[in-house]
Amino acid sequence: MARTFFVGGNWKCNGTSDDVKKIVGVLNGAEVPPEDVVEVVVSPPYVFLPLVKSLLRSDFGVAAQNCWVRKGGAFTGEISVEMLVNLNIPWVILGHSERRLLLNESNEFVGDKVAYALSQGLKVIACVGETLEQRESGSTMAVVAAQTKAIAERVLNWDNIVLAYEPVWAIGTGKVATPAQAQEVHTELRKWLHENTGPEVAASVRIIYGGSVNGKNCKELAAQPDVDGFLVGGASLKPEFIDITRDRI
Ligand code: PGA
Repeated sequence: MARTFFVGGNWKCNGTSDDVKKIVGVLNGAEVPPEDVVEVVVSPPYVFLPLVKSLLRSDFGVAAQNCWVRKGGAFTGEISVEMLVNLNIPWVILGHSERRLLLNESNEFVGDKVAYALSQGLKVIACVGETLEQRESGSTMAVVAAQTKAIAERVLNWDNIVLAYEPVWAIGTGKVATPAQAQEVHTELRKWLHENTGPEVAASVRIIYGGSVNGKNCKELAAQPDVDGFLVGGASLKPEFIDITRDRI
């Protein structure tokens, strides 16, 4: 089954409303492949979601960077899935390593969030990835399998999930995984999905790579058969993001 290439831009905790308007201006003016060739989704901080939603071209999607784990209510400082649905935000990034590590989000908590977001109609970019220490101790696959398992145990339908493999040591470090390293983990993840969720899910779920992707290194990575796109951090704040989406033309 053909998997549409997916390029996500994770703006993280950056920018002012002026910066956001500038980035959106660049995106709106860009010539990119059609949606059925490359799906583009950008993820601004919560406070800019309505602004981006109102200004951004309609062929690009918008994602929140997080959401609350259950129905909204007395959870000070949180943003509920219901609010995102209310604002017509179709996507949410969940389980990003910055939240797993800095905010102690466990595999189970991330799995619960994924399940709840999906149940309310959101699409999810679910992130997994190992630290340098875990890679060096040979536990990369055990780590990403455990992270993926916590999702698989709570979710039956994977149609609205994009799985993002983001090695922590490659995020924001300029130290990108080699195409072979990315392909190796993506293949293993697909194998894991095959064994644990079935052949259809394994064949159709998009597994994207994230970690120091830029306009230069994207081509070789994208040429790997199991790399179905990217989650881009730093470079998504620059016009270079367009080059990454155009890589498939
Ligand atoms: P980076 O971030 O591209 O700046 O390494 C990727 C991510 O955290 O999604």
